[in-house]
Amino acid sequence: MSTILRLQQVSKSYRSGGRDLRVLDDITFSVEAGSTLAIVGPSGSGKTTLLGLCAGLDRSTSGSVELHDTRLDELNEDQLAAVRNRYVGFIFQNFQLLPTLTALENVMVPLELRQEKNIRPRALELLDKVGLADRGHHYPAQLSGGEQQRVSLARAFSNQPRILFADEPTGNLDAETSEKVVKLLFDLNREAGTTLVLVTHDLDLAAKTQRILNMKGGKLISDES
Ligand code: ADP
Repeated sequence: MSTILRLQQVSKSYRSGGRDLRVLDDITFSVEAGSTLAIVGPSGSGKTTLLGLCAGLDRSTSGSVELHDTRLDELNEDQLAAVRNRYVGFIFQNFQLLPTLTALENVMVPLELRQEKNIRPRALELLDKVGLADRGHHYPAQLSGGEQQRVSLARAFSNQPRILFADEPTGNLDAETSEKVVKLLFDLNREAGTTLVLVTHDLDLAAKTQRILNMKGGKLISDES
């Protein structure tokens, strides 16, 4: 087994009201390539911040974050974006689709960034995989929450990420849609070996992963396999 993600003594503070607010405090853990992991804990405990640091969307105040043998904390913004495009998929809690692009165009964006070929048919294939082949020409506002989440999944899958981070992937979905989304995520792990790191309040979803990290007040308080 190889390690795909390694955090060592990571802390993160925000400057707020003239003082430093420490939201992550001395976090150390590693993740095996191909494994599944859930991060749980009360609201405000730092889960989303931690996920953003691991995915190279945000920076630590101190400590090291190593993804796929690259120290993210030592990269400039362009290098960080290149690592994200190459290895990382991210699913946001509120989907974050581009409102002026259709579903199909949203899925095409990462492929265009990578200057890939046959972008349109590949994006259509991905939409088909999430059951939305007939919604390609719809804009996000014309889609239900569950459909938007599935478009965001198709977009996250499009660069064939080695590791997929998902922030509350089922948070805004009804039970039936939630089940579909969870199946897509775990299929991706099983079929392509994509490492899954999920932040969730849903303990049933967390129980489906191989390992659960529990956070409280910016600290990692338990790590159970
Ligand atoms: P969780 O995902 O567990 O709910 P978050 O990581 O979103 O927790 O937030 C952890 C803490 O960091 C919270 O107290 C939140 O208010 C604070 N926080 C998050 N983002 C910022 C920011 N950009 N500026 C200041 N404080 C922030």
